[in-house]
Amino acid sequence: MNIAEHIRDIPNFPKEGIVFKDITTLLANPEAMKYVYDTWQDRYRGKVDAVIGIESRGFIFGATLADRLALPFVPVRKPGKLPYSTISREYALEYGTDSLHIHTDSLEKGQKVVVIDDLLATGGTAKATAELIEELGAEIVEMAFVIELSFIPARTTKLKGYAVHSFVEVESE
Ligand code: AMP
Repeated sequence: MNIAEHIRDIPNFPKEGIVFKDITTLLANPEAMKYVYDTWQDRYRGKVDAVIGIESRGFIFGATLADRLALPFVPVRKPGKLPYSTISREYALEYGTDSLHIHTDSLEKGQKVVVIDDLLATGGTAKATAELIEELGAEIVEMAFVIELSFIPARTTKLKGYAVHSFVEVESE
């Protein structure tokens, strides 16, 4: 199964110069989605205790994977969304900063987790998520993405030391 065939490029969205990787075409294809979930299910079965999804496209993939594995799903969310006690991490955007939040009671010390998002670019989002998980004492087994913009060296910079899985490597802009 070639997942790349199910991703649609939208040039200049949301702004000039960005090629947006549209996953709605993948979501609309049950066979391709089954392949994604089957692959991750085989890869993480028996190896993790919880699935972490990063808002918001990470929720789509992460929540279904958690259901497949019959494991807890833990959301990492943008500011002002989580109602209970939280910890947060700031991360850099192209202009300015944003932050991600997690409920303090969502993971236990020593739990093993997989982190799921749709796309890896600079790794800033994933790194902030990793710091939240580690502050709660949990351990990251792997970070898994549908798409990796491999022309940005996130694996060897921000995500150095973490295992990373992706289905599609985009080698040039
Ligand atoms: P980064 O923190 O730079 O690794 O960015 C990853 C986050 O930004 C993911 O949650 C993606 O959904 C989103 N993102 C970054 N670049 C793109 C892109 N070219 N197309 C679609 N989503 C993107």
